[in-house]
This record gives sequence, structure tokens and C-alpha cells, in this order.
Amino acid sequence: MTPGRSKLTLALALMLVPVLVTVTASFACAQTSGTPAAFPVTQGKTYRLEKVAEGVYFATGVPGSNSVVIVNDQDVLLVDDGTSPAAARALLADIKLVTPKPVRQVVNTHFHYDHTAGNQVFGPEVEIIGNQFVRTAIQTFDVMHREPYLTSQGNRVPALIDTLTKQIAAEKDAAKKADLQRQLVSAQAELRALQEIKPVPPNVTYDSKLVLQKGSREIQLLFLGRGHTAGDTFVYLPKEKIVCTGDEDEGARLAYMGDAYFDEWIATLDKLKQLDFNLVLPGHSVAFRDKSQITAFQSYLKDFIAKGTALKKQGVSADDAAKKIDLTSHAKDFPQIKEPGADPRGMRRLYAWLDETGRK
Ligand SMILES: [Zn+2]
Repeated sequence: MTPGRSKLTLALALMLVPVLVTVTASFACAQTSGTPAAFPVTQGKTYRLEKVAEGVYFATGVPGSNSVVIVNDQDVLLVDDGTSPAAARALLADIKLVTPKPVRQVVNTHFHYDHTAGNQVFGPEVEIIGNQFVRTAIQTFDVMHREPYLTSQGNRVPALIDTLTKQIAAEKDAAKKADLQRQLVSAQAELRALQEIKPVPPNVTYDSKLVLQKGSREIQLLFLGRGHTAGDTFVYLPKEKIVCTGDEDEGARLAYMGDAYFDEWIATLDKLKQLDFNLVLPGHSVAFRDKSQITAFQSYLKDFIAKGTALKKQGVSADDAAKKIDLTSHAKDFPQIKEPGADPRGMRRLYAWLDETGRK
């Protein structure tokens, strides 16, 4: 993260706290940082690359999603490619610090923009692989005019620029004004990066399982059921006992729920836990080892469903339910929970899902 970015993130956090309260939890642009365990680190210009196994690097340290760089005998496979084309180019530049081999495959863990917005920087020689649903979603959902992009980026960044512009006009202190100016330049750069996005779907798809034999390395792409979206991929390295979970499980951070299939998500995570792994590389937040963190998220989901369903039964609107729902008993596992409330986008989805599934 560049200094400008940190200041922006801090300013954003300060600005959002009074309005969004616990919602910052599900912000697609939330802070990410490295793994607490001591892995060798190569600090690139933008990304922090942690060597978690021979030829496997966990790329973090940017405001958007994490990526995983898997260096094989001949070439490189990436898991997710950033929140903008600029992020993808920055990742490609930083990868050169650890390998001269070319990227030939990219896996999109799911269709959300912060995992796929780098797709457009790759030429036809690169296979972009995703579950069939990822291709369908990117081709048909108008992803730049729907959630999670709208609240997380599409409406947020122009509003931030507007606020900063007004603050600069009103600020009398020269040093504070200069700081606000720097934040404005950073926000304008972020807006330009987002405006460059042209959603590109995967050019290779699969339905339930795809096994790639890359020389001595086996890479399994697994669809274990609907959950975070209708088509998420786990990237599993059986020999290294590593699994990349995308946003199906983000460890101690709560995942976005606006496209969720709630009870199926819990079942999918049960299947995940049956795999033999000892390191999880999530799409946001830090790496972790303990399967009990996945169980903690399942428990949060169960509670979210039960309490949200009860509020709907009482005739409470989805947006009011998002303010009222009390999940503070999960704060020990998810430190971002400070008070009652949840992301309204998740609650709206729960209400829609209850209607779709005919639950009362
Ligand atoms: Zn996502």
C-alpha cells in the first residue's frame, strides 16, 4: 500500500464510521494485510508477496482483494487478478520480483469485480478460468451497475471526491489543505482506475471440478456448492495442503452476502472442511490455519439467517432489520463487529432468498 493509499483508507474509514458503523465490515475495499505467521516476504512496489510454499506466493497489502501466485515448471497461474486493470498490472510488475515466468492462467474465484477486474489486461494466450456461472454472470448481470460494485466503488469514490473538494475549499490551514489535496489526487486516480474496467468473462469454464497438472504440481479447481455466489471456486493444492477460498471464507473478516445462498453456503463450507489442508489463503484479510475459523463463520451465518428470518416475520423491513440485527455475540471471532447491525445488502439478499425459497 502506498502512503497516499493509506491516508485515503484512513480518511475513508474515519468518514465512513459514523454512517456505516459495522457495515465497513463487508466493504469490498476493506483493509487487507499480511499473514501473521512468519513466511519470507518480498515487498513489491504495490503488493506484499509472502512465500507460503515452494513457488506459492500470497499477494496482499492492497485495498482490494488478495491474489495467489502459483509458479509452475513452465509458467504462472494466478488466483484472482485485482480490483482494477491497474491493480492487475501492478501485480504483474511485482511478480517479476519472484519469477521471470509468464502468467498463462488466471482463475477467477467468483464474478465480483474485485476478483475479476484485471481480466482485461491479459492477451489471448492467457486462459481465464472460472466456474460456468462466472461467465454467465459477467455476460448478463451488468456488473458495473449493480452491487457489490455500486456501494463499494461506483457511488463511493465520486462522493468522496465531492466531499474532499468541499473540504479543500473550506479549509484555512495550509498543511491540512495540502493533506486533503493529496487525498483528492489519490481518489481521482482511484476513480480513473475504476473507469478503466471493462468486464471480461472467463474464456475457459468448468462445472464441478477441473484438475490442472502443471509439471510436478497438481492444482484442483473445485465447485463445492453455492454459497457466497452461485459459482465460487476453491483452488486446492493437495500436495502443499493449501486452499484458496476466495470470498467463501475470509477467516476473521465477514464476507459480502449480497449474492448469497445462505443455507447452501453453510453446507459448502462443510465440504470445504473435509479437504485435507493446513493453510487457507482467503480473498480478503489474512491467511489462517485453523478450521475452527470456518466453523465460526458458519455459526455467524446460521445466526444471521435465524435472526433475519425472525425480523422479517415481525414485518420489519430489510433495511431496518439490517440496523437492528444483533450479532455482537460473534464479535470474539469477527472483531469488526462493534455493535448491532449488518450490511443492508446482505439483509436485502436474505429477504429475497427467503421469498425465493418459500420460507416463512
Ligand atoms: Zn465476493
